[in-house]
Amino acid sequence: MKISKILLYEEPTVPQINLNHQKEFLSEIFNVEIEVRENILKFSRRDTSYSIAKCKVFKLRKDFQEHTPTQEEVEFEESNIQDTGNTENIIMYDGFQLQKVLTELIPEKENRQDIFHVFFTNKLTCTFDYNDYRYHGRALIGANPSIISTTGIIEAPAKPKEYYMDLMVNFAKGVNVDSVKEKYKGTYLEYNDPRLSTVIEGYLLQAIFYYETGEPFCQDSECRLFNPHWQKDLIHSQIEQQKLCQKHQHTLNQLRN
Ligand SMILES: [Zn+2]
Repeated sequence: MKISKILLYEEPTVPQINLNHQKEFLSEIFNVEIEVRENILKFSRRDTSYSIAKCKVFKLRKDFQEHTPTQEEVEFEESNIQDTGNTENIIMYDGFQLQKVLTELIPEKENRQDIFHVFFTNKLTCTFDYNDYRYHGRALIGANPSIISTTGIIEAPAKPKEYYMDLMVNFAKGVNVDSVKEKYKGTYLEYNDPRLSTVIEGYLLQAIFYYETGEPFCQDSECRLFNPHWQKDLIHSQIEQQKLCQKHQHTLNQLRN
């Protein structure tokens, strides 16, 4: 393996990530040193908050354009409050730009190929897709460092079509949306969902496989390396199956040797 050490950085606003559990999970698979670290932004300075606010995305159909943050936006980044649970209030960040900002916070002596850094964030990371010329939410920004976005896991794979239909019908009738949420409860991940911890295991594997092999996601919906477009597929591969496909199990065995 290229990797000799994995550093996992806390996102204190999302306790369901449970980094000690992730450390244990990875330790059982990989024979490398694994360390849990505090959130790297804890030691950042005001100019980091400014740099992060610059990564915000406002135009979904335009490639990244650097944003000039207001004082208020910089202060927001300093406090790192995210109003989760209300999709309309979710801020989008360009994942690759954010990755650059976070990379600069890694101490020089640890900015090495064999030390694999994984940042967890509650920010919704997005990337611009030249196939359809628009931004999409992403759960994982791969490379070293990798970023795993808990909001991306919850928001990027879509909920069932019927869920959105019911929402529209209820909205038109003026009925409270809570009844729709209740009807579909369990079929998709929610904020503070206890299953998040298990789902994150899969995203950690995706990040490590991508860095080690350079191959993107698996096409097999039964595999933990599958990139789901629907919440039901996410829940199937990460919660119900919790397995790698044969091909990737083989790759894993080779990596471990
Ligand atoms: Zn696979």
